[in-house]
Amino acid sequence: MLSLNNVHVYYGAIHALKGISFQVNQGEIVTLIGSNGAGKSTCLKTISGLLHPKQGSVQFKDKDLSNVNAPEIVAMGISHVPEGRRIFANMSVSENLDLGAYLRKDKQNIKDDMEKVYTLFPRLRERRKQLAGTLSGGEQQMLAMGRAVMSRPQLLILDEPSMGLAPLLVKQIFEIIKEINESGTTVLLVEQNARMALSIANRAYVLETGKIVLEGDAKELLESEEVKKAYLGG
Ligand code: ATP
Repeated sequence: MLSLNNVHVYYGAIHALKGISFQVNQGEIVTLIGSNGAGKSTCLKTISGLLHPKQGSVQFKDKDLSNVNAPEIVAMGISHVPEGRRIFANMSVSENLDLGAYLRKDKQNIKDDMEKVYTLFPRLRERRKQLAGTLSGGEQQMLAMGRAVMSRPQLLILDEPSMGLAPLLVKQIFEIIKEINESGTTVLLVEQNARMALSIANRAYVLETGKIVLEGDAKELLESEEVKKAYLGG
């Protein structure tokens, strides 16, 4: 469904991605793990059109995304929930969810999807009239994910969905990611919480300073001594 082929990305003189290649197949959950600054967020931003490769290509369903802009990429079926949840603080929960669907033409299905989001996140239903800026951090994360689901993406890209959340909520968010995947959405996930990410993913890639150093079946990586030592706290 998605493939990056020898992608190089720069921030000015900083060479952030040094020839990254990986694939995400339809129906999978794939996770990128690695230390701070390894280039995980940069990969996601390159896929969603916020950054463009200087060399190499990004292919989505046989289309080259390398020079397509972000709004067009959303319209093609890729939805990115960035790190730090960019919700619209002065709009209500339900207005934020409506905005997630603004590109859709199948207006009659939007109501059903709103219902689906409220079933995934009952907390959002309770708070649907509340201003999004007054939600707790965890609730804002749920809203950011809910809004992405409202765009009915084929590929959902999540950057650090567990950041700053209490352990119980982290577990819940990961269960919801699994549910979203089981309902037919392919997921690409970046996480500091490598153990959690590997436990729900099918496959994983490990990044170090702009390169992929390891890849494989997520369950196998979870058992690998090398991964345990470097990324799972021994
Ligand atoms: P983290 O887990 O800490 O979020 P990451 O793996 O997502 O890290 P990136 O955010 O992709 O890492 O950053 C990769 C490299 O690019 C880092 O060295 C970072 O300092 C650099 N970088 C990221 N954004 C910019 C920017 N806007 N300008 C300059 N350098 C940047």
